[in-house]
Amino acid sequence: MSDSAPNTRSGITAMVPCYNEIACIERAYREIRAELRRYDDVELLFVDDGSTDGTLDAIKRFAAEDPAVKYISFARNFGLEAAFSAGFTYASKRWTVQFDADLQSPPKEMHRLLEKALEGYDAVFAVRENRQDPWYRRFGTWAHQTIARRWLGIELPPGASVFRVVRTSVARKVVDSRLSTPYFMATAPLLGARYTTLPTAHQPRLEGRGKWNLRKLFAHAIELFVGFSYRPLTWLMGLSLVGLAGGATVLSLALTDHLGYFDLAEASLVVAMVALAMLALIARYLVRMMRVQAISMPRYQIREANISIRADEALYGYETPFAVADIWENAS
Ligand code: UDP
Ligand code: MG
Repeated sequence: MSDSAPNTRSGITAMVPCYNEIACIERAYREIRAELRRYDDVELLFVDDGSTDGTLDAIKRFAAEDPAVKYISFARNFGLEAAFSAGFTYASKRWTVQFDADLQSPPKEMHRLLEKALEGYDAVFAVRENRQDPWYRRFGTWAHQTIARRWLGIELPPGASVFRVVRTSVARKVVDSRLSTPYFMATAPLLGARYTTLPTAHQPRLEGRGKWNLRKLFAHAIELFVGFSYRPLTWLMGLSLVGLAGGATVLSLALTDHLGYFDLAEASLVVAMVALAMLALIARYLVRMMRVQAISMPRYQIREANISIRADEALYGYETPFAVADIWENAS
């Protein structure tokens, strides 16, 4: 154990969600494993999010040689949030560190996050210094976090990324609270978790392809806005009052022959478009409420694992224990 390694007798789970990361997974395993050697009580938990490119086979090879390697494999691609939710649920050590398989956030920074956490935080979020992503990603993060924090009053650790150290018990509370999505960094403050941020190095993705496109990023931002704030609805009410006053003015001008029919038609078109936009936003809130009601819908299903899985989260979980053990290679 190196001098700088904090005292973490209670153990560390390094968790890596991965989706079609065959190009990166070997290096991720090697580098994260090397970092974990600083500590005594560790596990490396891979959450395979329905990969179709052989990522799971690679993980199984690591597990065959290294008892610290645990894995969970989803029945299909359920998305990053589902993957890290499962990771936090099945992590067995006191602290969980979340990595990306492409190692854009270098494992060498892990011990700094842990040291910070041991100063008395439940979560320490890495803030990427000199973030090595395309400009639209950097701009997107800045814009959606600014809108969320400044305009909508949503408490978020500023600049936080998914490279983070979290007290596993608190992470599980966040996951279990199941707000509209397990929007982790917005939920942790709501629960009263003590959190902070720490600048860490960042590097470009060296191999493989990023999984985010503009549509997904936009959807993610909207989830945050409507999932954690009702302010847009208040604005809409304000806007509708302005519209009402404007409409009344236009109508009175028309009635007193100050406006022609063409002006009147144009004004009603604008009002109709604004009303449509309002309806779209309200519909978005309704969708969110319906999702919250449909909370019994599972967030993910696990097809295979080398650890014990709750029956309701395992695709074959209601088969007899014997059959389940058959299906899950190395099931414990
Ligand atoms: N990932 C995942 N499920 C998905 C998409 C991504 O588990 O549906 C994982 C991916 O394998 C990686 C991490 O999430 O380990 C971050 O993905 P990526 O590098 O594509 O995101 P970016 O760095 O572009 O934000
Ligand atoms: Mg990446």
